[in-house]
Amino acid sequence: MSPSRSPPKNPVLKTREPTVPPGLRSRAALRLTAAACEGRLELQRCRACSAFQYPPREACTQCLSTRLEWTECDGVGELISETILHHSNEPYFRERVPLRVGLVRLDVGVTIVAHVDGACAPAPARIRLAAHLDKSGQAALVAHPPEGPTDMTTSQTHRDMTCDPRGRKILVTDGKSETGEALVKAFIAAGADKVWAGVAEPWKDATAIDKLAQLEGVTTVPLDVTDARSVEALSGLIGGKVDILVNNAEFHRHKPVGARGVETARAEMDVNYLGLLRLIESFGPALKFRAADGPNGACAWVNILSVYALSALPSQATFTASKAAAFAASQALRADMMGVGIRVMNVFPGPIDDAWNQTVPPPKLAPSALAAAVVASLKAGVEDVYPGDVAQDILARWRESAKVLERELADQ
Ligand SMILES: [Zn+2]
Repeated sequence: MSPSRSPPKNPVLKTREPTVPPGLRSRAALRLTAAACEGRLELQRCRACSAFQYPPREACTQCLSTRLEWTECDGVGELISETILHHSNEPYFRERVPLRVGLVRLDVGVTIVAHVDGACAPAPARIRLAAHLDKSGQAALVAHPPEGPTDMTTSQTHRDMTCDPRGRKILVTDGKSETGEALVKAFIAAGADKVWAGVAEPWKDATAIDKLAQLEGVTTVPLDVTDARSVEALSGLIGGKVDILVNNAEFHRHKPVGARGVETARAEMDVNYLGLLRLIESFGPALKFRAADGPNGACAWVNILSVYALSALPSQATFTASKAAAFAASQALRADMMGVGIRVMNVFPGPIDDAWNQTVPPPKLAPSALAAAVVASLKAGVEDVYPGDVAQDILARWRESAKVLERELADQ
């Protein structure tokens, strides 16, 4: 047994209730969560008097101005006092006491009650505050040592905020593609207990499949996301064991709108959108059922989408339409999974350096860079990932003005 593997479940012990922390937040406080979804700490800052404030409010507590701006913050400050909680009225925390919590004073002037990372020195000590997503998908503030988060897996509450692949069983829905192979290798390198690599049309690419099957910890399994029976059959076999599902199955052609025939569009929809729906139908209930199953229970669902799901790329109209459809479905899946604490992580890459983008000029994202971003984001427990320069650039332009970006993409 590898050291990262969790011990077999003791059937005599009580299974933890699938509870999540309280999830209700005000509209203002949801901005804290929105930043945490991408791994950033943002606090309100008054544009009139420059004061930072916490908790989020509708007006500045210093000068009553309503001109508040969410501003990224480095979280550097001091743990001024701390305590250990041994009791909580919240069912979620009741199962997780004792909890280390403390009072933190940030250098920007605000004082905040936060979770305290086990690696922090006892108060008074310098710390760095970070915003993570808790099990209910809301921002939770954790004080880390000054160098930032080290190992989030030492306490169950903090581990719940991440989806570290270490010790977990992972299904990659298309192991044969270049991104699939990179993902499988990255998960094994990150200490995954087991990786199932889905293989559609097993009579094709026998060498690639053999190479996959020879990797230690990897099992190839038949999976065709366009066939409901195939998805159902695999779910019946391994659905109750998958901790992280990574859907990278993709059909990708470059077809502009107005080109004759809908066959390409239909095939893209069948894999990229309907394929996701078939996976949700078969694997969703099993994952939700295992959300509280021991320290390594089911924890995440990852969708490899495209940054052009945000704004269509006319030269690849049908492909980007299918990714936009999948994005909408993934948001509904996230709303559904939030109640049990399964994180739905959406990845929005720009053009990937694979067989289907040979005619696309650089910069392109290497499959290995995509895989590294997925692993790092699972470890950080974030929800939305925009890996690579193109994705970051499109995201920034989309945030600034979706309408201007639409016009700019029309010329590409
Ligand atoms: Zn003010």
